[in-house]
Amino acid sequence: MQEFVEIRVYEKFARQLFDETTGESVGALTPSVRKLIVSTQSEKFRLIRELNAKERLATGKSVFSSWRLLHTYGKSELESARYFCIDISSIFEPSGEECGTLYDETSRCGICSSGDCQVGNLIISTKNIGRNIDVARSIAGEILVSTRFCNILSENNISGAVYGAIESRSGVINDNWRQLKFVNSMATVSNKTKTGIDPFDDDLKNEYRCPRGDLIGLRLLSELYILSDTLPKLDIFQTKQFFGLRSGLLRPQRAIIVSKKLQSIFLNHKIRRLGFDVAHVV
Ligand SMILES: [Zn+2]
Repeated sequence: MQEFVEIRVYEKFARQLFDETTGESVGALTPSVRKLIVSTQSEKFRLIRELNAKERLATGKSVFSSWRLLHTYGKSELESARYFCIDISSIFEPSGEECGTLYDETSRCGICSSGDCQVGNLIISTKNIGRNIDVARSIAGEILVSTRFCNILSENNISGAVYGAIESRSGVINDNWRQLKFVNSMATVSNKTKTGIDPFDDDLKNEYRCPRGDLIGLRLLSELYILSDTLPKLDIFQTKQFFGLRSGLLRPQRAIIVSKKLQSIFLNHKIRRLGFDVAHVV
């Protein structure tokens, strides 16, 4: 496995570190940023980390706007993997809450606000979901899947998924989309899993970790490790623990894990906008 980070460094800092041929200028944005993909073991990564630490100390701000981790695998690593953590990259607005979906807040953690239970059908507008998409996530983490997606999983006897109806604001049931729900959300994340605020900040102050252990970090900073005795015999399931934060419309979310069988089905049926990281069982 090789680990990279795709990072958008503000141009004024990128200029201090690299010549103009390094990375890709992302136009129209103000302030302008440079998108780089660097190995987390590389000299470039080290240079960004050092400048970021200096800037954080001086101004409290970061030298980059956004980032995401990328893991690449050799053929044999992919063949021997049993589970994958999926990343749904098609994200849309509005959230269910903005459209009238009800959440029971009495089920949430009093400290980190994780674990609100949805009450009734998901009420949401699907008009901003792009075309030719079979799986999309609202900004609040509600997961929508196409009828094609549901049919493919049913035809292949995939276990662990259930589907909820989706309603418009006026109560009309959506024929094209369903809400993906899970039979099991009890897979426990091992402490071998690294979480933190960004690739340079492991959140040593535990700002984004709940003392009750339900919310375990703002973002994943490594592959996911799951405790074997909590692993369900299902093709798709969620972690017990949450990632992220409750802020405005944003809600902490659980990680989603799929079996190798389901990952192959996604690839064979060209289900787009899904990323796969190996999930380890320990
Ligand atoms: Zn909590």
